[in-house]
Amino acid sequence: GLPMIYLITPTHSRLEQKADLVRLSYTLLHVYNIHWIIIEDSDIKTPVVSNFLKTSGLNYTHRNVKTPPEVKLTDTDPNWLKPRGVLQRNAGLQWLRETALKKKLEPAVVYFADDDNTYSMQLFEEMRYTRKVSVWPVGLVGGLRYESPIVVRGTVTGWFTYWKPQRPFAMDMAGFAVNVRLLLQHPNAQFTNAVQRGYQESTLLSGLGVMLSDLEPKANGCSKILVWHTRTEKTKLKNEDKMKQKLGRGSD
Ligand code: UDP
Ligand code: MN
Repeated sequence: GLPMIYLITPTHSRLEQKADLVRLSYTLLHVYNIHWIIIEDSDIKTPVVSNFLKTSGLNYTHRNVKTPPEVKLTDTDPNWLKPRGVLQRNAGLQWLRETALKKKLEPAVVYFADDDNTYSMQLFEEMRYTRKVSVWPVGLVGGLRYESPIVVRGTVTGWFTYWKPQRPFAMDMAGFAVNVRLLLQHPNAQFTNAVQRGYQESTLLSGLGVMLSDLEPKANGCSKILVWHTRTEKTKLKNEDKMKQKLGRGSD
């Protein structure tokens, strides 16, 4: 049959969480042979996410692990200050490795899908047959219209990236997928909070023993954008308190 796609999604509680998750789930419902590993940044599995998943119609695994306060973003921190979703993605990798060893999951591919990005259905078919690591452009990221691997005669030679292009793998988390076999061959490869900004992707791929020449350009030689690093606007609740006062006074 079709190789399975394992999607690892860190998610955290916020006003827009359910809306983002609903939108993503409706994309995933269009994709065959997909298993959603969703890891909450939380001490508990929240009712919001638990109930949402139960009725989602998707195959999923639900886990939770809380980011410790020392590395957690606060409401007023700029979003780039600290890494996001690191422990959650690692928990997803751990579940996948354990499950892959117990059951025969292969052939299978893993993709790290943040909960607020926009994914074309076609992206999943591009990544499904990944020998080692597939790569493609990501739209609306890095202060550019898009970032992309640079492809010369079918081979990745570098990175069309303004920010830190000297990184070994100068691409966003949304820009690559990995064959699950590689995870088993390199059981210790994972993400870490202990690297400089922008080095999460490089840390994992270097840990997996990946070289530039291993990368498989997809999306028509990296000429098509099939995923966008969209970000949901933070909702302002400027009228919530005023509304309560108004209701408390009685209607007028
Ligand atoms: N995330 C998380 N804990 C946090 C902040 C973010 O688990 O404290 C998740 C978030 O839900 C998303 C991923 O990590 O799936 C990346 O976060 P975000 O989309 O905020 O990052 P950005 O869009 O700025 O890259
Ligand atoms: Mn995001």
